[in-house]
Amino acid sequence: MPSKMQKPVLLVALGGNALIRKGQKGTLSEQFENLAVPVRQIARLSPLYKIIITHGNAPQVGSLLLQQESCPAVPKLPLEILVAQTQGWLGYMIESTLDSSLMELGVPSHPLVSLISYVVVDPTDPAFSAPTKPIGPVYRRKKDAPPGYPLVKTPKGYRRSVVSPRPVTIVEKREIRRLIGEDFIVICCGGGGIPVIREGRAFSGVDAVIDKDLASAKLAEEVGVDIFVIATDVPGAALDYGSERERFLKTVSPERAKRYLATGHFPDGSMGPKVEACIQFLKTGGKRAVITSVDAIEKGLEGSAGTQILPSIP
Ligand code: ADP
Ligand code: MG
Repeated sequence: MPSKMQKPVLLVALGGNALIRKGQKGTLSEQFENLAVPVRQIARLSPLYKIIITHGNAPQVGSLLLQQESCPAVPKLPLEILVAQTQGWLGYMIESTLDSSLMELGVPSHPLVSLISYVVVDPTDPAFSAPTKPIGPVYRRKKDAPPGYPLVKTPKGYRRSVVSPRPVTIVEKREIRRLIGEDFIVICCGGGGIPVIREGRAFSGVDAVIDKDLASAKLAEEVGVDIFVIATDVPGAALDYGSERERFLKTVSPERAKRYLATGHFPDGSMGPKVEACIQFLKTGGKRAVITSVDAIEKGLEGSAGTQILPSIP
């Protein structure tokens, strides 16, 4: 087994949508059961890698929004507070599931921590004028969605959408780097991080949700990550997704991925930011990025599943 110092740093980004499978209501027991699938794999990988876990929150932050809208007696909270809530919610779920999985494997003393994380955004980001990030439940018909937020059409159906500025820097990057150096498994940047703007030396929250894949690429750049795995609810990135001509990519170079992105194969708010995050990751020093399903994280790392984004294809 490699020594602590030689272990490469692996970043696994877990999709919020992968915690609620198609056709499920998203009860807590369903979410725990779904979560165990990627987390058991991460536990098995822990002797081989230093591990950072990030996670999405689109279904969860959307359901918190619906919960608060259904209770007029309680003052409404802005999105940054709801994102913070999902960091606690999912951080707890991931941490406790990981703890159990490590125990099952006979490595009960591996240190792990989940960290409330802020991510700085730019107040002049043009994203503030156009909501693009789908959150919450999927509605088959437009009229089924509650009012208050614009709707976007996704391959899954209609969803409410919120503004999603780009991540500029991760506030806790130094702390994360130190924890990784100490071989902690670190859960951070949940739901893309709590979006804040810098006002002098202080931070103040903004009503938005950052894409967790773009936040993960920024984190990877600032902390130093070797391999980036994006685990989601599809087997990888496909061309002509959802059509008769659909084909999943096995390997792709960043240059080619960029061309496919420009020609509309990977939409905003879902596969687009994943592919963009992988391109960004390789441009800023990452060695290999994989987009794979939550069931196939280990296979994705072995190269036998998912879409591998590689700097050069032989
Ligand atoms: P996550 O919660 O994991 O971030 P997203 O819903 O944001 O999940 O992104 C995954 C979704 O992207 C898939 O469920 C699929 O419907 C959609 N998608 C859109 N375009 C593509 C594509 N070209 N290839 C694969 N999936 C795609
Ligand atoms: Mg997403």
